[in-house]
Amino acid sequence: MQTETTLRFEPMPQREQPPPPSPRVRAEHAHGTVFLVGCGPGDPELLTVRALNVLRAADVIVYDHLVSDAILALARADTKRIYVGKERDRHILPQEQINFLLVNLARNAKRVARLKGGDPFVFGRGGEEMQALAAEGIAVEVVPGITAACGIAASTGVPLTHREYAQSCVFVTGHLKDGTMDLDWEGLARPSQTIVVYMGLKGLPVLSRELIAHGLSASTPAMIVEQGTTPRQRVLVATLATLPKLAAEQAIRAPTLIVVGDVVRVRASLEQSTAQATAARALAG
Ligand code: SAH
Repeated sequence: MQTETTLRFEPMPQREQPPPPSPRVRAEHAHGTVFLVGCGPGDPELLTVRALNVLRAADVIVYDHLVSDAILALARADTKRIYVGKERDRHILPQEQINFLLVNLARNAKRVARLKGGDPFVFGRGGEEMQALAAEGIAVEVVPGITAACGIAASTGVPLTHREYAQSCVFVTGHLKDGTMDLDWEGLARPSQTIVVYMGLKGLPVLSRELIAHGLSASTPAMIVEQGTTPRQRVLVATLATLPKLAAEQAIRAPTLIVVGDVVRVRASLEQSTAQATAARALAG
């Protein structure tokens, strides 16, 4: 007989000390350290242990709109919080000023946790921030996070690769520039490949049109997920041809992730067991 084990998330005791330096921390420094912390796609249980430790030990937290309230709630009450949110077309602080802010906070010998959605090095400008800090001689540690693609693959039951359906997977940005996307359409429209599109909601009609024009079948399964892994997750499954209309009709809003490819078919077979797992977790929580 099978028994079900449910893992429970027990909050760790609060740390008063800074987290021990990991091998990735640069040489000890008179200045503070900036931690570029990947916080995953929203569900606080998807934080790494390292991210939680850094979050709890930080003197100051610098965060943007993709970091959920549930994650901020895990910080100590006395931790200073600075919002530098960036939503499409609504930049609270331009990137250079964010870099400048991080440098200055670190110069005041603070432990600065720069929280980012997903993983800092996947469409997260973590690379730019790391370079700017390094150029000023500030110690930086990068804490990886679960990128939206992986979190959402799990929360929707859509594997990114699968021996029957996809031998490769590409992550692209669907950000529109002058009404178009600067993407290698031939490279994307390959058979047996999963395409994951970040920041693609506005450009979805262009994406659909170009992929079909470059050889993908109009009936290729496609999915859009709003606020994946959070209690507000919405999932729409359609085809490459029909997804733009459906997303518009259903008033889907950012942040959204788009997944195109035959792997989306697998969801149907997993839907029931995924629902059961969610129910089990809700009971445990
Ligand atoms: N560094 C992040 C990506 C930042 S770019 C990561 O690794 O996930 C911001 C884009 O990520 C959003 O426009 C959206 O496409 C995607 N995204 C992040 N979190 C998401 C979520 N919870 N649900 C859906 N899409 C998400």
